[in-house]
Amino acid sequence: MQDLNGKVALVTGAASGIGRAIAEAYAKAGAKVAVADIAADKAMAAASAMGPNAIGLAMDVTDEAQVEEGFARTQRELGPVDILVSNAGIQIIAPVIELAYADWKRMLAIHMDGAFLTSRAAMRQMIQAGRGGSIILMGSAHSHVASKFKAPYVSAKHGLLGLARVIAKEGAPNGIRANVICPGFVRTPLVEKQIPEQARELGISEDDVVRNVMLRDTVDGEFTTLEDIADTALFLAGFGSNALTGQSLLVSHGWHMH
Ligand code: NAD
Repeated sequence: MQDLNGKVALVTGAASGIGRAIAEAYAKAGAKVAVADIAADKAMAAASAMGPNAIGLAMDVTDEAQVEEGFARTQRELGPVDILVSNAGIQIIAPVIELAYADWKRMLAIHMDGAFLTSRAAMRQMIQAGRGGSIILMGSAHSHVASKFKAPYVSAKHGLLGLARVIAKEGAPNGIRANVICPGFVRTPLVEKQIPEQARELGISEDDVVRNVMLRDTVDGEFTTLEDIADTALFLAGFGSNALTGQSLLVSHGWHMH
């Protein structure tokens, strides 16, 4: 297991699902962890369950002032950030011709603006502290493939690959690495919510959505687990050099291979 003693990590969307599992894994590995989420109460509760080295932060990642304040507080209370996991995200399911412009903009704001604002704040602290760092953006298998009814999600997740590659180049002189984790379907609230929504859009049963839409192209018909993604995030956080940067790691039971 990676040893993150002495490291400071900030994870967004860390009150639930994948973000929470990563924050817990980092805390167990010895890191001090800032648990950031728009759901402030849940973030505080999650942080206190992680022990004395975790703090909860109320942070809407689309709000520049809240992001800046959250990073400033983290630096004051835990130290400068060594590891960022930009993970906050939502899903909105609709065909392009029915998608409201406001929903398109909200999706891009949470996934793309959030990744930009948090990466910028993290890079500034990392450069000032002079000890490098690891930036991890939460992509998706949808960073590489497309599915119906997910235009803004697929667009944003593809966009994160570009952002990570630019950060990899700009960050290298300061030992800052940037990579994207691309999970297949993981049974979190985000996914539980869309099973009935997809069934309605496609006119099929929920069972068919799971078997014939979500897991159809995996090698074994299995969901990816929270532990699979937390392990990958631990590996990327602890990796010791710029050899592994600008990459995307697909953790999806072979749904997509590249
Ligand atoms: P989740 O719904 O369990 O958790 C998402 C968290 O993000 C919630 O706690 C929510 O409050 C928070 N959040 C939403 N908007 C926010 C904002 N503006 N600012 C700060 N926090 C905000 O979802 P999850 O499945 O754990 O998803 C986490 C990430 O993983 C997302 O980026 C998602 O796209 C990605 N992902 C999930 C899956 C999957 O199958 N679950 C697959 C691939 C990628």
